[in-house]
Parts: sequence; structure tokens; C-alpha cells
Amino acid sequence: MNRLVDKDLLPDEEQIERSLRPQRFKEYIGQDKVKDQLQIFIEAAKLRDEALDHVLLFGPPGLGKTTMAFVIANELGVNLKQTSGPAIEKAGDLVAILNDLEPGDVLFIDEIHRMPMAVEEVLYSAMEDFYIDIMIGSGETSRSVHLELPPFTLIGATTRAGMLSNPLRARFGINGHMEYYELADLTEIVERTASIFNTEISHEAAIELARRSRGTPRIANRLLKRVRDYAQIMGDGQIDRELTIKGLALLDVDNEGLDYIDQKILKTMIEVYGGGPVGLGTLAINIAEERETVEDMYEPYLIQKGFIMRTRSGRVATQKAYEHLGYAPIGEGE
Ligand code: ADP
Repeated sequence: MNRLVDKDLLPDEEQIERSLRPQRFKEYIGQDKVKDQLQIFIEAAKLRDEALDHVLLFGPPGLGKTTMAFVIANELGVNLKQTSGPAIEKAGDLVAILNDLEPGDVLFIDEIHRMPMAVEEVLYSAMEDFYIDIMIGSGETSRSVHLELPPFTLIGATTRAGMLSNPLRARFGINGHMEYYELADLTEIVERTASIFNTEISHEAAIELARRSRGTPRIANRLLKRVRDYAQIMGDGQIDRELTIKGLALLDVDNEGLDYIDQKILKTMIEVYGGGPVGLGTLAINIAEERETVEDMYEPYLIQKGFIMRTRSGRVATQKAYEHLGYAPIGEGE
């Protein structure tokens, strides 16, 4: 079974996501803080007829960073070119992309923290003064070529701002910190997606689904898709709260929205490490997951919901984690 909490897109999901993507700010639900500041900067850039300052968007996968980048380009009325850190292997790849930009265009680099250092260094002068110096040839015949670029806006997306080098981070004028979505906003997103899918869902069912979606639109949309299938087979296709609860139980999503890996993380902390403190690397090895997956996808939500605390000596399971998984409270039992 595909995981619900997966940073890679599931088969067919790219096309579905594209059809669900809001195009303008007025359709983009939630993230008001980021939206409000961007709207002002975009208006100002348009009035001055300048490129928008470079924007760094950070937050866990699936919160709408790519969507936001497209909305920004649409609001500016410019083209967007999309690439990602790991896709730009050599400085020359980046030069080719930059050389292709029109004045004012947006270049969106997803997972910008995974760009090779040699590529990143080319980006510095491009971002700051819109030029690049490239070396052509090798040995004695090599020479440096100065290339002027049109003013452009770089939008970088990363899961954690701390993973970016200081010189790169300093070159972004606008920082957008994407938050997990509030329940009301996520409910609205579920209802919007359902209407695009032509699926009927009761308001109570939409709330239940949103509540268990880890504050993340991508996960809400995934759950909705699965519950829709369940409703089609088990009922008449209409989604009510009862069907939602049964469908989610089949998917191993508990009533706090935790999936089996979240539960495995908490159980390992409690059963193997007496509740912690335990280092994240050790924990990841124990549950046979990559450290980065645990750090980016699981831990932030478990911390936000109060199941894990980060301490200087490692991660600790909280009282709430013990209670939620049905263990005797800390300090009792044995
Ligand atoms: P990220 O780039 O942060 O991983 P995406 O922008 O790809 O996230 O968003 C994942 C999906 O979630 C999108 O296809 C879109 O359908 C949906 N989505 C994200 N943010 C919103 C939003 N604010 N309103 C409605 N749908 C959203």
C-alpha cells in the first residue's frame, strides 16, 4: 500500500494535483500571513515595474509551496520555469536555465537545499546583481565570460530553512514560513477538492477528514480520494461522517491523524527507550526509515501535536503519547 505520508507523489497524483491547484490568491485557502505579505510586495513590484524580490518558502512537504510559487507568477503576470535542486547537477545546467528567462520571470527551484555547492555559487551573483561569470574551456585556453541576465525572481522551496547555507539564505528578500493548516481552512480545502471531483461530502465528514490530515492539504486530498473510493463501493458514493471514520480506519489512520509509522515511532520510543531521550538517528535506524524522512515528515507533526518533545539530550515521548497509545502513564506501572 502507498503511504499517506509520502514526500514523493503517488502514481497519477501529479496530474490530479495540477487540476486541484489554486491559480490566484483569492482561491488559495489559508497561509494568511505569507499571502498578506506577498500581496503587498507583488503590488509594489508591479507599480514599480520591477521584478519581485527573491522569495524563500519553507515548510513540510505538501503544504502548498509549489502552488504558492505558481500563484505568485500568475499574480505578477509572468512565466514560471520550474526545476529542483537535485535536477541541476552542474553549473552549466543552471546557466542554461537562467539564460532562458524573460525579464520579470519566476524561476522556481524546489528542494533548493539539495543543490550542489558549485551550482549554488553561480546563483549568488545571478540573484544579487543579475549576472554570471562562467569559465569556458580548460587549462591555458580557458577564459571567463561575463553574462548579463534579465531581472528575475527566484522562488526557492525547502522543508527546513536551517538546511540552507548562510550566503544563499541571505540573498532572499522575502521569507515565507508555511504553517500547518488550521482545521477550518483544511475543511474548506477538502470541500473544494470534493466539488472539483464532483463528490458529495457532508460538512461533518469534511471536518473529520481534515482533522486527521496532519494539517496538510496533500494528505487531505489523498485521504479524500481513498474515502471516496470506499464510499462508492460500500455506499452510494456520498461521503458522510460514519463512512469517513470507517474508511480511515481501514487506512490505519487513527483519530489523531497518526498513521502506522507515527505509531511505530512512538511505540519504539516508549518500549525500547523507556520514553527517551533518544537521538533521532538511532530512532530512524530502529524503525528502518531514513533520518531525513523522520525529521521532515513525521517529527514536526508529532511535536506540533504534543506527542514528542525535543530536548538537548534527544527526543522524549510525552504523557500524551503514553495515553494515546494506551500505555500506563509515565511513572506508574512496570
Ligand atoms: P509543496 O510544494 O509544499 O509540497 P504543493 O504546492 O505541491 O505542496 O501542494 C500539494 C497539493 O495540495 C496541491 O496540488 C494542491 O492541490 C493542494 N493545496 C496546497 N495548498 C493549497 C491551498 N492553500 N488551497 C487548496 N489546495 C491546496
